[in-house]
Amino acid sequence: MGKTSKDKRDIYYRLAKDEGWRARSAFKLLHVDEAYGILNGVQRAVDLCAAPGSWSQVLSRKLYDTCETDDEKAAVKIIAVDLQAMAPIRGILQLQGDITKQSTAEAIIGHFGGNEKAQLVVCDGAPDVTGVHEMDEYMQHQLLVAALSIATCVLETGGTFVAKIFKGNATSLLSSQMQIFFKKFDIYKPPSSRPSSIEAFVVCSGFCLPEGYIPQVINPARDDIRLLAQKTGSEVNRRLVPFIACGDLNGLSDPEEDKTLSSDESKSCLEYVYDSVMDDASYPLEFKEILMQVYDEQLHIK
Ligand code: SAM
Repeated sequence: MGKTSKDKRDIYYRLAKDEGWRARSAFKLLHVDEAYGILNGVQRAVDLCAAPGSWSQVLSRKLYDTCETDDEKAAVKIIAVDLQAMAPIRGILQLQGDITKQSTAEAIIGHFGGNEKAQLVVCDGAPDVTGVHEMDEYMQHQLLVAALSIATCVLETGGTFVAKIFKGNATSLLSSQMQIFFKKFDIYKPPSSRPSSIEAFVVCSGFCLPEGYIPQVINPARDDIRLLAQKTGSEVNRRLVPFIACGDLNGLSDPEEDKTLSSDESKSCLEYVYDSVMDDASYPLEFKEILMQVYDEQLHIK
């Protein structure tokens, strides 16, 4: 059965069309807000991995459109970042770029530099899924760690971080890393997230930098964490945050293990209301080997 006929039966797909959301994903953020009140009193927010823009629409409608005066509107700062361009949204500043790149992270940080930090960072980041469960999980966790490291740079004390997480073997490790920075931590599966999908959302509030920790932009697949820690000169950075994002890649070449998602499931993280083109190609073998090597090296960081 094709994606279109499946989506048309979905209540959130129909609601999204009726209410003018660009993707049914809007309801995931709305449900997180209903459950945790993450948007209460927020004026400054960052939406990472934002295209086609339904979460930005939620932020625009709830934080910008509700302002009664021009002064109130001027105080609202929302920045949306994605690899892909997206159609403009009222009250949202767009930045096209890769959140795992230093330059993109610096542009976001620059926007929220100085005294005015963000109160909320959200990230719905997902790679183009390959259908190889462990690979998709690994790549998604890279995005999550990039988002977390940007959040440590731009969030004000007490701020909130909400991000998609593909649940898997690395969930508890990543959860521990997030709890270093936030007083409250939860993993939530909104009713609008399909039960067959491995996605859930981390909801972290009460941001608080550990004493002595110097925020920095980290991409574990690119950076040597030990060198970065030395660069900041902070013992706390070295001790506290190895920032390892990992998934169990052992099953990749095991034909007995059928962990591969069905094509319907593997596409479910791209729940756009309008048609989207999926790149279905698998990663070449060499890439898997490189990825496993990186993964292996990270596991052996002392
Ligand atoms: N929250 C969005 C919405 O409601 O419309 C949907 C986000 S979609 C599930 C995932 C997005 O992550 C895609 O638009 C993709 O381009 C983006 N993405 C994936 N890798 C990225 C990266 N390295 N940097 C920035 N965006 C990325």
